[in-house]
Amino acid sequence: MTLLYDRHRGRICCRWKEPVTMRFQGKDITIERQKTGSVRVSDLGTLSKRDLNSIKGSDRAVAISMFHKALLRDGVFTRDYVPSVCHVCGTSHDVRACFDSESQQLTWLCRVHDKRLGMLKVS
Ligand SMILES: [Zn+2]
Repeated sequence: MTLLYDRHRGRICCRWKEPVTMRFQGKDITIERQKTGSVRVSDLGTLSKRDLNSIKGSDRAVAISMFHKALLRDGVFTRDYVPSVCHVCGTSHDVRACFDSESQQLTWLCRVHDKRLGMLKVS
């Protein structure tokens, strides 16, 4: 599962894969479908209780909680926070925090490099 923190939209977004069974040429096949969802987060770092309640007990809720803690540790929600630069190209334009729930690694990436990361994670 990959997570993103989008400061402008005030949202933590998740991308994950879910197996979906469908019929193809008379056979049942299972494909992995990419899904997305998001949870609102205030400028001060408070997660929306309503959004959290709707995913209570899921893997997503656990991953968001880990990501949220990592963002708090990084001081992202403090007033004097200086936005980070893209890990790959160093731009400060449109940079978002990306989090991998398996490695629990927080990386800052611009939109271009976040997309590349997303593609690498297709497996
Ligand atoms: Zn970049």
